[in-house]
Amino acid sequence: MADVLLSGKGPFKEEVQQLVEESGVAESAEEILGPFSDIASSVAEALWDAVLPSSTTNSLHWPFLVLTVILTTGLWVIHKGRGAKGADGLERHYGLMEYLMPRSIYTHLSARVDIGLYLIDRGLMPVWIVLFLGGLAPFVEQNTIGAMQWVFGASPQLQPTTGWKLFYGAVSLLIADMIFYFIHLMMHRTKIGWAIHKVHHSAQVLTPITRFREHFIAAPIWGSGFAVGLAMSGGVFAYLFNGGITQITVLNLGIFSFIYALNGNFRHYHVAFRYPRWLEYWIQSPGMHHTHHSMLEKHWTTNLGLVTSIWDRIFGTLYISERNEHTPWGLTPEDQAEYTTLSQNLVTPLRDIYRILRGTPTGDPNYKL
Ligand SMILES: [Zn+2]
Ligand SMILES: [Zn+2]
Repeated sequence: MADVLLSGKGPFKEEVQQLVEESGVAESAEEILGPFSDIASSVAEALWDAVLPSSTTNSLHWPFLVLTVILTTGLWVIHKGRGAKGADGLERHYGLMEYLMPRSIYTHLSARVDIGLYLIDRGLMPVWIVLFLGGLAPFVEQNTIGAMQWVFGASPQLQPTTGWKLFYGAVSLLIADMIFYFIHLMMHRTKIGWAIHKVHHSAQVLTPITRFREHFIAAPIWGSGFAVGLAMSGGVFAYLFNGGITQITVLNLGIFSFIYALNGNFRHYHVAFRYPRWLEYWIQSPGMHHTHHSMLEKHWTTNLGLVTSIWDRIFGTLYISERNEHTPWGLTPEDQAEYTTLSQNLVTPLRDIYRILRGTPTGDPNYKL
């Protein structure tokens, strides 16, 4: 029954199709990719795009970088050269070129480590995609459709009006937001989670590539969380519309991918792109992520959200900063000493996980409870 509810095809499907064919398991490709809905493939695209800057939904794709530069130039004009930070996390007055790309940031060791971690992540991503998205997401989606049919009978075959399409986009965004918050909270509040996620926080400067800075074992954790949540909602929508719903697109991109990519660039940029204070109580401005990356204790485990501030408010982790607040990025000095070079960022989390599992104290003063 579920196979009559096939939804729209996304570019991701073709990518995976090719990957699966190349790996010599072509005969199972149809089975794997069959029920993959538009919504699940949007997420898959977002993850896949983390490894391919050439693909259209990646925030490192040139139109997004151009848009980032245009918006930043606008901020430079509006704020008269203020609002950008140096490698020390202190706001300063810059000429336009330094404002866009301060030398102290782009020559920093941390920025080079970002690139190394990104490339390793990129190399491993196809493995995670086949394992978690090729297998897990369609399985969850298919079973969600099956459960809906079992409980409610045949699909009501609703017509996908513009209103429904917007609703579909909004629901997927809110689900992704919720999943992101809880995985992120777990990364900060469990010892093993923090050992892994410290790699993201050991960035001493922020560049758009810092967005992808994670230990390679973090990818399947984020990936499987998103895959399950969005495949469930994809299944519900595929059932309601008999597979015939797609998202509203902006610049030929799903609205979800568009917001995700643009937001992703500014979250890890040295220019504090802030919203009015009242709005930050509802929506995470990219600038709010500056405090999330700060080593100051008052900033620890704050602003964990991705899109909305709702979860941060509910769980008391919201932090609205003052204008140009000092946010020295990175870990506290004791921790940073073990998470600075590329090899340290690859090996130390594995060593710490081993110690945690054996019950040996990790000597971690910066365990952010
Ligand atoms: Zn974090
Ligand atoms: Zn970050």
